[in-house]
Amino acid sequence: MQKLEQIYEGKAKKVFKTDDPNLFIVDYKDDATAFNGLKKGTITGKGVINNQMTNRFMAKLEKAGVPTHFVEELSERETLVKKVSIVPLEVIIRNISAGSFAKRYGVEEGIVFDKPTIEFSYKNDDLGDPLLNTSHALALKLASPEEIETIKKYAFAVNDFLKAFWSGCGVTLVDFKLEFGRLEDGTIVLADEISPDTCRLWDSKTNEKLDKDRFRRDLGGVEDAYEEVMRRMMGAI
Ligand code: ADP
Ligand code: UDP
Repeated sequence: MQKLEQIYEGKAKKVFKTDDPNLFIVDYKDDATAFNGLKKGTITGKGVINNQMTNRFMAKLEKAGVPTHFVEELSERETLVKKVSIVPLEVIIRNISAGSFAKRYGVEEGIVFDKPTIEFSYKNDDLGDPLLNTSHALALKLASPEEIETIKKYAFAVNDFLKAFWSGCGVTLVDFKLEFGRLEDGTIVLADEISPDTCRLWDSKTNEKLDKDRFRRDLGGVEDAYEEVMRRMMGAI
């Protein structure tokens, strides 16, 4: 597989073409951003952890019946993925109140929900990823009704899987963000990443934050937290 020109550089990853028109290579960086790019920094070793963690989860999710873009891990930071056209929705599942949910609705963090919630944001940095509902997504033609149903079904299946997995590692899955894409034939698959950048992970005993909130909130010990969750994952795999 030949790595050809870079087609995109995002906040956390670069995307390259390959000599196969249906495959891309994603290359994970140590760059970290928060608050829609206003806060910038580096989390040393993050790219390696996020690449390896994402790939292990994607492989397991495929087996659990959720199709994904994952093809093959090429190196510590590089992965071969199926090229998709990204559905411009950030799909957020929450098991416990935190972050923008707590802020928006004026509640404390840490309220355990009876059932997980799902919400969508319009993936659009210029607009600051505004929250939208299904009818807005349909009005904007971001996805078809069938695609939205499929995305919801997969997102809850990912939650069931991840929640159980992390629970076995002494980690509470608070919330996370997923992205989905369309293959050439229109099939919806899980894309992008599943990592401490995109999930809130709390130590089950102490509720210590083991994710990007340590960077967002200047809590210190950011690298240690990423290493700790990776270590726990590897112990359970
Ligand atoms: P951002 O664009 O938010 O800064 P990243 O730095 O993670 O995010 O950049 C990676 C980009 O690649 C994202 O825009 C993501 O939607 C996109 N992407 C992820 N997986 C695929 C894929 N399989 N095919 C095409 N694009 C993808
Ligand atoms: N999230 C993400 N990318 C985003 C927005 C959110 O990965 O652009 C993740 C975030 O890490 C958390 C979950 O989605 O695990 C819910 O985030 P929230 O809406 O609370 O927003 P935030 O507090 O990050 O502003």
